[in-house]
Amino acid sequence: MTDVAARPAPADVVQELRNFLAGPGADLRARWGRSTSFEARLDWQRTLAAGGWAALGWPEEFGGRGLGVRDRVACGLELAAAWAPVLAGVLGVNNVGPALMAFGTEEQQASLPKILTTEEIWCQGFSEPGAGSDLASLRTRAVADGDDFVINGQKIWTSEGMEATHCLLLARTDPDAPKHRGISALTIRMDTPGIERRPIRMITGESGFAEVFFTDVRVPRSSLLGPLHRGWDVTMATLAHERAGVIGLAAELEHNVTAELSGALGTTTAAEGPQAPLLRQEIARRYADARIAGLLGLRALADEERGAPPGPEQTLIKLAWGRAVERVAATLLEAAGPDAQRAGSAAMAYLRAPAATIAGGTTEVLKTLVGERVLGLPREPRPV
Ligand SMILES: Cc1cc2nc3c(=O)[nH]c(=O)nc-3n(C[C@H](O)[C@H](O)[C@H](O)COP(=O)(O)OP(=O)(O)OC[C@H]3O[C@@H](n4cnc5c(N)ncnc54)[C@H](O)[C@@H]3O)c2cc1C
Repeated sequence: MTDVAARPAPADVVQELRNFLAGPGADLRARWGRSTSFEARLDWQRTLAAGGWAALGWPEEFGGRGLGVRDRVACGLELAAAWAPVLAGVLGVNNVGPALMAFGTEEQQASLPKILTTEEIWCQGFSEPGAGSDLASLRTRAVADGDDFVINGQKIWTSEGMEATHCLLLARTDPDAPKHRGISALTIRMDTPGIERRPIRMITGESGFAEVFFTDVRVPRSSLLGPLHRGWDVTMATLAHERAGVIGLAAELEHNVTAELSGALGTTTAAEGPQAPLLRQEIARRYADARIAGLLGLRALADEERGAPPGPEQTLIKLAWGRAVERVAATLLEAAGPDAQRAGSAAMAYLRAPAATIAGGTTEVLKTLVGERVLGLPREPRPV
């Protein structure tokens, strides 16, 4: 299989990372194995930051590696192959950091080095009960009062919300404006009085999210990120640059799924019984799903390299990725057979998989985008 990473990348940066992973990275692997606990993620990020590998795409002036998309994807795959878990401060590095670089004041940009070292862990307070896919309906209010804003409302599904030291919050600052306007982005400390967080326990027993309640939370006006009432633009501008992340998803999917399916295929080839041929067909279908995601990734990479603006591949990759993660998990569970009941990993992957069809845009919403923006079908009328 030709995956995105296997394509030639400047050997020096990939080799440099391999050397790092064979040195300090090997110590991390010895310490944590394949653990994805928050402690393991913190340790990995601190070690990567010390070696200058925590922010592959950030410009060097902000402490990043300054890599282009192809190198980032290639390095991302090296990290995945070394079982490096997701960074503890992934939202800070991938989303908040670029927003601070683009819109932050000097004072706000002072957070950038701390985001790399994990001194600051950032979460994103966007979704609310009743405002997920339709984020612009958010109701958390930030009311100007002298030199402060006073915040009241509730956020939900806040990843890393229990561990975060800081939050990039979206709140309504002008309730009379049309709903996409009148929203502002605020940078706030999570230890500010009036903030209460509660863990959300998932079906796996894990708790990666929090609900966060804001009651008369007072923050200075200097917390505003970007212009007043223009938080929507701040968020969209930042997300629009996440092409490398999406291409990385496609590449990792192709890489990981192939490895997982090979294991399952080994088991089912040896297995007897009437189900075995059907299961092998399923595995072949999943292999095709992963290849399609990988090919979309290559196309998006080619577009990026010739300077074309992000196109529909971004949506298609996320759609293909979510569906493939879900289907692969179901196939692996079937391949594990009755053993899945006691061998935890296939069952846990199956329980976690639906999240991939929700985070970053649900499958249904993405299908609508494909229908309207790729196929040119008539738009559904939407409330203003
Ligand atoms: C792993 C994970 C991490 C997350 N991390 C964060 C985070 O850090 N910060 C944060 O703010 N949020 C986070 N979220 C929340 C995420 O952004 C929302 O779950 C997502 O936007 C969907 O919103 P919702 O849950 O309110 O579902 P809803 O939008 O209420 O959707 C419910 C169902 O209705 C469907 N639906 C909704 N609108 C339409 C439509 N127009 N057409 C057709 N079908 C529709 C959806 O597809 C879905 O099946 C995270 C979610 C997950 C799964």
